[in-house]
Amino acid sequence: MAETLSLPGFVNAHSHAFQRALRGRTEGDDFWGWRDAMLEVAEGLTPERVRSSYEETYREMLVAGYTAVGEFHYVGLAEAKTAVEAAEAAGIELVLLLSAYARGGLERFRQPSISAYLEQVEELRVSGARVGVAPHSVRACPADWLEEIGRYAETEGLVLHIHADEQPREIEECLAEHGVRPIELLAQTGCLGPRTTIVHATHADDTELDLLAGSGARICVCPLTEANLGDGFLPVARVLEHGIPLCIGSDSNVRLDPLEELRELEGIARRQELRRNVVPVADLLEIGSAEGAKALGLDAWPGIEVDFAHRSLAGVAEDEVEAALVFGCGADVFA
Ligand SMILES: [Zn+2]
Repeated sequence: MAETLSLPGFVNAHSHAFQRALRGRTEGDDFWGWRDAMLEVAEGLTPERVRSSYEETYREMLVAGYTAVGEFHYVGLAEAKTAVEAAEAAGIELVLLLSAYARGGLERFRQPSISAYLEQVEELRVSGARVGVAPHSVRACPADWLEEIGRYAETEGLVLHIHADEQPREIEECLAEHGVRPIELLAQTGCLGPRTTIVHATHADDTELDLLAGSGARICVCPLTEANLGDGFLPVARVLEHGIPLCIGSDSNVRLDPLEELRELEGIARRQELRRNVVPVADLLEIGSAEGAKALGLDAWPGIEVDFAHRSLAGVAEDEVEAALVFGCGADVFA
């Protein structure tokens, strides 16, 4: 047996690097309570703090086998620039998904107008950063912002990422404001297409899944964060029956381990379906790598090496190594 096995690097399609700071915090009865703690951390960020703390988090990601990351960034333009620098220093491929935020949250999240937002996107693109557009959510962006962003992404050929259907309350508020559910609103405003990634979609109903399937959009599932925040379970088998592609994200970065994200994803599916092998191992590894790269519009990203001498792999047959990785190893198995 060879000493190492080469694999495509894992791609983390959804990260908020600053939230790594919250990993030991246990306050908050639900998502909304956690969100208050998150806002407190976000309030204290400066470009310098982003530069140093993001580099540390990106180094942790690399050690865990992620070689590319989509940073969904909503804490200011100067901080977006230092996030790009932090990734360069750490040596991870980064796509900066610049968030549009019209209302709610903190002042530092918000742009005064949609044109101000698009100017920020342009400024980052001119600086050479790889950029995607990211209306934060239907909570944070009204319909006219979504329309403009959808149009801009289409014209410029950029990826579009947005949080949707993470929490039942968000769906109720969207129904009250627009009379439709979040993914229906995204369809109406021209935000769904093959370059669109819906982050979470935990509570998407069949109509919404049909819209995603019809448009070629994908879902980024963040199983460890969704578990940590009490979001619920993605209906994995239903999503796959619809033919909707999946990718993974570490989101709040409470834990950095792509194998654990994939194991949790398959674990959710097995518990829901009462059977094994709902998502075959080869598909899980694709979800963890190539599918994330597609979500970020990345053509190439570095590979990783699995250390066969690692004790977690002792005695494992060569043709069972990939399954052993997903079900029996932690990210320390990467050389
Ligand atoms: Zn997120």
